[in-house]
Amino acid sequence: MKIVDIRATTVAVPLEAPLRHSNGAHWGRFVRTIVEVETDNGLVGLGEMGGGGESAAAAFRGMLDYLAGHDPFQLEALHFKIANPTASLYNNRTQLLAALEFACLDLVGQHLGVPVYDLLGGKIRESVPFASYLFFRYQGEAVPEVRTPDQLVEQARALKKAHGFTVHKLKGGVFPPDYELECYRALAAAFPGDRLRYDPNAVLSMAEGLRFGKAIEGFDNDYLEDPVLGLEGLRLIRERVNVPLATNTVVVNFEQLAANVLRRGADVVLLDTTFWGGIRPCVKAAAVCETFQLGVAVHSSGELGIQLATMLHLGAVLPNLTYAADAHYHHLVDDIIQGGKLAYRDGRIAVPDGPGLGVRLDRQRLERYAELYRELGGYPYDRDPGRPGWYAQVPNERFADPEAGP
Ligand code: MG
Repeated sequence: MKIVDIRATTVAVPLEAPLRHSNGAHWGRFVRTIVEVETDNGLVGLGEMGGGGESAAAAFRGMLDYLAGHDPFQLEALHFKIANPTASLYNNRTQLLAALEFACLDLVGQHLGVPVYDLLGGKIRESVPFASYLFFRYQGEAVPEVRTPDQLVEQARALKKAHGFTVHKLKGGVFPPDYELECYRALAAAFPGDRLRYDPNAVLSMAEGLRFGKAIEGFDNDYLEDPVLGLEGLRLIRERVNVPLATNTVVVNFEQLAANVLRRGADVVLLDTTFWGGIRPCVKAAAVCETFQLGVAVHSSGELGIQLATMLHLGAVLPNLTYAADAHYHHLVDDIIQGGKLAYRDGRIAVPDGPGLGVRLDRQRLERYAELYRELGGYPYDRDPGRPGWYAQVPNERFADPEAGP
């Protein structure tokens, strides 16, 4: 089996509403690039990467010069062929590598007639649990604004009812920390017995991080995720706050994982199949975490069904996945895979059992959302459509005004 073609299509898939975060917002859609890797036996493997446009399409097209004739089984060689670590100072291709690794695993699975999880050691769970992932949001076409504690609880209640979540993650860093603490307390009061996590995307000052961490010590917390920026910052919070610390920002490769083992700042590492360069590096990293008694969770960088499938296959095979995974997925209105969005049941998504990644492209949906991308284009992730001219600082001193109307 040899690679003969690589195609990339950028799509924009609508979200229910613009989702706010510490840097700005997801402006009402996710922009993703869908990758198709074709082999000489007529198979097509699927990959996905965040962002897109001409530069992404050109970058994937450019990879054909490196990978024409490459056997998708040669996954270690794939890494060195396009993302050799000593060359990556000049051409950082981790995310391209990840999308192509997904596609190669999909091809190998299809070729052998087995799901990707069987290539990774076999599944030890049939479905993967997810957290509700709550956002402050602007009003959408069919959903209301979320700004107040009551609106936040209402969002969580609706998501819990629809999908069965028992873990709630609050994406913060939007409003002043004391206000978000009030929101967190409201969630704790509204959902006794459920677990909570808070992630302000590292924009709190050390004093704010300590204050927030101390204030939530009595709740059923999974962890406090990236309250401040940097491993040293996390380490200082961890020394003084009795809540596990987690990160998806400063342990995203093996060098940083080693640093965190030697001087622990994070107790839990959120593994991201894109940021780590594929599913297999995440499996390797999880084994290191297991050895050193670090927890692992699955990070969401905003996914459509192909990326979600990589998260499900990863989640299926990790013995030490003791936390619910994150997904933005339930904030989307549609997907580009056949059958539309995968469904949650009791807060979990079943791991696909079909060959390869177990999801296939829906050509009509792909074309519909490629057209939407051509119409709308991308958006600046680090700007807030509701606050023109504003930009975030770290630590941030200019949080949004919770009293301000939409
Ligand atoms: Mg995070």
